[in-house]
Amino acid sequence: MPDIAYVNGTFGDLADAVISIEDRGFQFADGVYEVIVAHERRPFLLDDHLARLEQSADGIDLPLGGIVGDLPSIINEGIRRCGYTDITIYVQITRGVASREHAYPSDMTPSIVLTFKRKPVSDSSLRKNGVELTTTTDIRWSLCSIKSIALLANVMIKNDARKRGFYDAIVLSEENDVLETSCANLFAVCDGVLRTPPADGRILHGMTRGFILDVARKERIPHEERAISLDALIAAEEAFITSTSIDILPVKCVDGHKIGTGVPGSTTRRLLSHFPASVLAEEQTPCANPQSP
Ligand code: PLP
Repeated sequence: MPDIAYVNGTFGDLADAVISIEDRGFQFADGVYEVIVAHERRPFLLDDHLARLEQSADGIDLPLGGIVGDLPSIINEGIRRCGYTDITIYVQITRGVASREHAYPSDMTPSIVLTFKRKPVSDSSLRKNGVELTTTTDIRWSLCSIKSIALLANVMIKNDARKRGFYDAIVLSEENDVLETSCANLFAVCDGVLRTPPADGRILHGMTRGFILDVARKERIPHEERAISLDALIAAEEAFITSTSIDILPVKCVDGHKIGTGVPGSTTRRLLSHFPASVLAEEQTPCANPQSP
């Protein structure tokens, strides 16, 4: 079964999908996106993803009209056509096609692209052993709550970390607080309290982050959205990163400093147990790298 794409109203094989060179997404990264996972063919946190897509589009003055209302049925049709059980669904909306000028016409028709791919099975050894992170200064733009397709800074951060032998890098604020990694949110357990940096525009308010905070509320796990200094992270009992593609990955060490005992802690494992069954089943299965969020 080939991976499939939806481009402006038409489904087809991903390999055959085309978009104009004059699309502003290609020329200016002028667009927004979401990555959604379907577990056993059911999209996880779909309403939340669609709400964030609307907020992101609003944030770049991209009117969506009725597009978001149409997306659930397009997504269901894509799930039906691709035939996979666990699916990574990529949704990208750009401002559309126009002659290349920074200022855009007021009457543009957005380009809508979705892709449907088999969700890669996560590397269970990362979940079991945790990941090694480094730290970096913030070279991103200042509107990090917008899920923009302009990801060059994030790409550079991740690749620089990889070249230096780390899984990813944590972006530090000017005050030396930890914000998030190139493509995941960050949590720590500090003095028994689950803590994550506030969604104050310097991080993306991740859907997985929101899910974890909901679980913490329901399970009465003490938690707070509060700044975490680099020193507090290094002294934490546990730390983990979250995103749609990786769910939860424990952090083993940061710049060589072991976090807690260096193995996934009880809060991390407890939170993981609340994810859909197919995420937990991956624990049993070895394998490949997750797709980029
Ligand atoms: N932070 C950044 C910069 C991201 O790119 C992502 C995912 O793409 C996240 C956090 C996690 O967000 P979510 O849980 O919605 O996948």
